[in-house]
Amino acid sequence: MAIEAQGMAAEGQTRVVHAVCSHDCPDSCAVLVTVESLAHGGERAVKVEGDPTHPVTQGFLCGKVAQYLERVYSPDRLLYPMRRKPGRPKGPAGYGAAGSIQTGGREADAFERISWDEALDEIAARLTAISAEFGPESVLPYSYAGTIGKLGYGSMDRRFFHRLGASQLARTICAEAGGVAFKQVYGIKLGTPPEDFAHAGLIVAWGANIHGNNIHLWPFVEEARRKGARLVVIDPYRTRTAAVADEHLAILPGTDTLLALALMHTIFAEGLEDAEYMAACTLGAAELRAHALRPEHAPECAAEVTGIDAGTIRRLARDYAKAGRDGNGPAAIRLNYGVQRSENGGTAVRAVCMLPLITGAWKRRGGGLQLSTSGAFPFNGDALEMPELMQASPLGRDARTVNMSRLGHALTELGQQGIDTADGDGPPVKALFVYNSNPAAVAPNQNAVLRGMMRPDLFTVVHEQFLTDTADYADILLPAPTFLEVKDVQGAYGHLYAQLSQQAIAPLGEAWSNVRLFAELARRMGFAEACFADTEDDLIDQALATEHPFFAGITRQRLQQEGHMALALPTNAAGESLPFSDASWFRTASGRGELTPVPVFIAPAESRGGAACTPEYPLEFLPRKADNYMNSTFANIPRHQRMEARSTGLLELHPADAAARGLATGDAVEVFNARGSIRLRAQVGGSVPQGVVAARLNWNKLSGADGAAANNVNALTSETVTDIGAGATFYSTLVEVRKVRVRPGVETSVGRRPVTAG
Ligand code: SF4
Repeated sequence: MAIEAQGMAAEGQTRVVHAVCSHDCPDSCAVLVTVESLAHGGERAVKVEGDPTHPVTQGFLCGKVAQYLERVYSPDRLLYPMRRKPGRPKGPAGYGAAGSIQTGGREADAFERISWDEALDEIAARLTAISAEFGPESVLPYSYAGTIGKLGYGSMDRRFFHRLGASQLARTICAEAGGVAFKQVYGIKLGTPPEDFAHAGLIVAWGANIHGNNIHLWPFVEEARRKGARLVVIDPYRTRTAAVADEHLAILPGTDTLLALALMHTIFAEGLEDAEYMAACTLGAAELRAHALRPEHAPECAAEVTGIDAGTIRRLARDYAKAGRDGNGPAAIRLNYGVQRSENGGTAVRAVCMLPLITGAWKRRGGGLQLSTSGAFPFNGDALEMPELMQASPLGRDARTVNMSRLGHALTELGQQGIDTADGDGPPVKALFVYNSNPAAVAPNQNAVLRGMMRPDLFTVVHEQFLTDTADYADILLPAPTFLEVKDVQGAYGHLYAQLSQQAIAPLGEAWSNVRLFAELARRMGFAEACFADTEDDLIDQALATEHPFFAGITRQRLQQEGHMALALPTNAAGESLPFSDASWFRTASGRGELTPVPVFIAPAESRGGAACTPEYPLEFLPRKADNYMNSTFANIPRHQRMEARSTGLLELHPADAAARGLATGDAVEVFNARGSIRLRAQVGGSVPQGVVAARLNWNKLSGADGAAANNVNALTSETVTDIGAGATFYSTLVEVRKVRVRPGVETSVGRRPVTAG
């Protein structure tokens, strides 16, 4: 199939464009977009499919993106700049009963269409006035991985906010604890290539729902299983992956460090470690050995705390350590980020990551561990983001940093008189600029977040594709494109291929890319630096401008021709690229895998073994992600809602916990703690261990009965941050559950989207 770069096709003809899925997913799929020219001269994307030539995409897309054109051409797309009508209060508008803001949904009552000129003038005037009165740090950008293309994720936007002197944002909400923790041990975020999982003899999916949200690893897992490998899933929730595994170990939340130590205990006690590898490649082996062998780490002691019996721990330890030594494939761990969204989740990641350093699993193809491969992509972030522009701002120094996982705190307490601000000195946040994110739905401690976003004195700009929960709090709404509508360059955190995403179609309506938005805004603000005139191609060239050997030979021109290119990782004499198979791979200060400080298990305060566990809130709460949404993305698309219908609005709980509260499947329940409460319906079954309850993320405005405004799972989560990396702790949440008496006819449905177009 011929792949064209940009360029118009003749009328009635089709062309195929190579793009890259930019959603926050490890797979970074290569996507072929078929574009058809229309009679009136325009173009329309008519098909998306996975690129069969990409070694990991392998020609298929996940259920989220396979029908992506329903999202691109959704009648609910935000297509024009909008302004809140005078006197209209902020807050939930409900979801447009007639389809969309364009076709007269309820949001149309709150917003009016304006031109880009009007929008930019008003934003520039407000940011200028706020900066003059309160200092530029009173402006807070809020963005995350709504797109992970390098330009869309962080380039012109960062330049703009740096030059303005706005607060910096610590982007901690998803992966920071695990990322920092992994680098403490290895020095670089790198791991087992996905293709190599096909050579494993034992695969441990630790907090990893491969089947749900890393689907392009699955063919390699299945290939390994066909050759005799076992798949063991360690997860408190019975995910899709757990359901099809050879063994599911339902670990209790927040106890991963102890399970890792108990595995180490058995490995060291039985002499199953690879002493030669440890001597050559690690630092601190003796300290770790002594620590792991402490009696409290024996499987018998760990069993009650982790919920996994001692015999199973011991068997897994032996299978894990012996894999690869008996002629079968080695052991590979797929560790995912759920493990680190716990109060001591950084330590948990450090502990689990040490396992292949003890057994030497890295030495053989198919062995090792994958948390992320993102560190293998040496993009020139400084060239893209230009942090030096802060020195040219009115501050003349680096701006303060605000932690995105504490947005509620930042909007309600930061800079207020008499409040102890853990984020340091500085003014209150007076302007919030949201893009690539939906914090009203996804940020923890939701009631504080929404209280802050309701503030009449907070000027809020939201750049979005849809009327999300966050859009309901905007003063100015700006239309954003999908990945089909922009050009970008992208790495991955689940494979090792750099890719160029060509613009397949013109932006819909008046959608502007992040690059164009912040470049134009910079001009309105009078920022004269030449960097604000850089084009997408300039930025891609700058992103690739590095002498790093992993990017050897990778240029924009070649990516445009080839679509994807393998990173130039080192290889051994057999031509294999085996991360951490010898000491040359480590990027720690010592040049070794660092096993100290030894990981110490401390139960999260908000867990059954923690200090905050009281009879008032005895249940551990898992605020899950939906398999068919990407965090809150896709939650408004009818096809995706249908795919998730069976878990919509449900609280999953164990039969014993249900019986103790007199609950049966279908009962209306309130899940609550001191931070908030949500209404759901009970689903009694075996998906969670006793003492654990689970519900999944949804948009707030799609969570209430019959479309009424409601809270979602983040009404219950806290702004406590992780031990390492100051990340969010969604999975350290204690709650109680009680039955709700429903008057007939009053609460007719929970969590259903009202009927709309499409
Ligand atoms: S969401 Fe992930 S699996 Fe789905 S198409 Fe995008 S990158 Fe691929």
